[in-house]
Amino acid sequence: MVEWVDTHCHLQMDTRDPAILLNRAGHVRYVVVPGVDVASSIAAREIALGAPGRAFYAAGLHPHEADRWSTERDGLLPLMDGAVAIGETGLDFYRNLSPAEAQLESFLEHHRLALEMAKPLIVHCRDAFLQVYEVLEQHGAGPWVVLHCWTGGPKWSKRFLEMDVTFSFAGPVTYKTGDTIRRGAAVIPPERVVVETDSPYLAPEPHRRGPNEPRYVNLTGEALARVWGLEAAEVARLTSERAIGVFGL
Ligand SMILES: [Zn+2]
Repeated sequence: MVEWVDTHCHLQMDTRDPAILLNRAGHVRYVVVPGVDVASSIAAREIALGAPGRAFYAAGLHPHEADRWSTERDGLLPLMDGAVAIGETGLDFYRNLSPAEAQLESFLEHHRLALEMAKPLIVHCRDAFLQVYEVLEQHGAGPWVVLHCWTGGPKWSKRFLEMDVTFSFAGPVTYKTGDTIRRGAAVIPPERVVVETDSPYLAPEPHRRGPNEPRYVNLTGEALARVWGLEAAEVARLTSERAIGVFGL
């Protein structure tokens, strides 16, 4: 049986019952539910507790919320302690919903905590390739750094590849407009890749107009299989192996 791991789905931000979404995703062996602040990290933990051995959670403060770091920090620390990963964190200079300085401070703190707790770090990177690269180059990277919803082209994919990070692909690799992303994927060895839905957002084709959910994760994996000229089952095996190794599932 072909099984996938959805390494990034916000089931706690979905209006639909997470149990129903997990039940109809029989081909998805594990899911990781990242938080974006204290409240959503608690909700993510609830989902993990409700589906032991199947759903896992991560705790962190999204770059959009980074200006709340000083007040969220104390609530996040104990949640991080029981999580499989720290995040999501990162930098978003596209929407800039928090000031750049606050984003950077929060990202650096998450990075430091991930090292200290020896847990993987889930990194959101939008219009911030250089800045994320510089943080990782200066403070350390490795397979434990998961670049979530990777959208880099060949140039940035090669540069980050040298730091031995993990690339997580989402729905945009299936889009008609996803040529740059596919050319980026083409230079990355499949062993370095995991897949995600980022649900309920960014549904892959042909579901793009509707809400996303874990059962669609294979569509992203199948798009990657076409890029690499591999069987989808092989991509499922490689990405699941990487996800299980990185997140310790
Ligand atoms: Zn996310």
